[in-house]
Amino acid sequence: MKLIENWFSERYSDNLQLSFRIRDQLLSIKTDYQRIDLFDTYDFGKLLSIDGTVQLTEKDEYIYHEMITMVPYYFNKKPESALIIGGGDGGAAKRLIDLNFRNIINVEIDENVVEVSKKYFPELSESFKNKNVNLIIGDGIKYINQTDKKFDRILIDSTDPVGSAEGLFSPDFYRDIKNHLTDDGIVVTQSGSPYYQPEALKMAVEGLSSVFKYVKTYIAFIPTYPSGFWSFTMASINGFNAREDEYIKGRYFNGNILKGCFDLPEFVKNVV
Ligand code: SAM
Repeated sequence: MKLIENWFSERYSDNLQLSFRIRDQLLSIKTDYQRIDLFDTYDFGKLLSIDGTVQLTEKDEYIYHEMITMVPYYFNKKPESALIIGGGDGGAAKRLIDLNFRNIINVEIDENVVEVSKKYFPELSESFKNKNVNLIIGDGIKYINQTDKKFDRILIDSTDPVGSAEGLFSPDFYRDIKNHLTDDGIVVTQSGSPYYQPEALKMAVEGLSSVFKYVKTYIAFIPTYPSGFWSFTMASINGFNAREDEYIKGRYFNGNILKGCFDLPEFVKNVV
């Protein structure tokens, strides 16, 4: 991360970065796990960055959060319980509440992310006050090892595969996840930018495929993530059967997006 005059830049490669002109830097802290920065940007409102990478912005968070929750929602038996690993901003929990999940456990390793979100993104972090949401501050890898609960959906809403999040892309972790999914449960992970982070996508797909029979990658347009082109990968033990429910429209998600998001460009197919 580089702050030149009133710009925050995220570096994508040695030769390219995306810069946001900012009104102000509202916060910068170094926690036991990572560095957290908060900027007030002109085009995207408040922007949360962790270790120099954009996690969410006020203006476009809805795309990521709709896509990580709503796409896996519409397959298999209607889900009621979910585990979110990461997601300390509360955005994923918020969308699951909207989808009527009854039992949501959110395990976030860094309580500072939750505190920052409570202060700067109250419309997302209000989900932690909901009676159906249980927020646990801890390592998702340890939690999944120790719990005896099973979930209809497990969402890995994590930072990129470095530091505390590296293990969240490993086959061992996916094996533990499998043991904590209900019979037709689905796990979904954010799997990076196919263009700038093909290794993250490969890690997710290869790791999940070593454990699950059914693995599917899907894509979304997220303007503030590297290249604006993002991937998610979901996996299940017994396959994916689309339900005939009426689709709830999001601000990004709709029934056609649900069908089309699995159509991958050739260069992405070559990675997965
Ligand atoms: N939407 C985001 C993205 O793709 O950029 C992810 C947002 S969310 C803020 C990511 C969270 O994962 C961070 O708050 C980080 O602290 C958390 N995290 C990283 N490693 C973790 C672990 N092992 N267990 C639980 N949470 C973890």
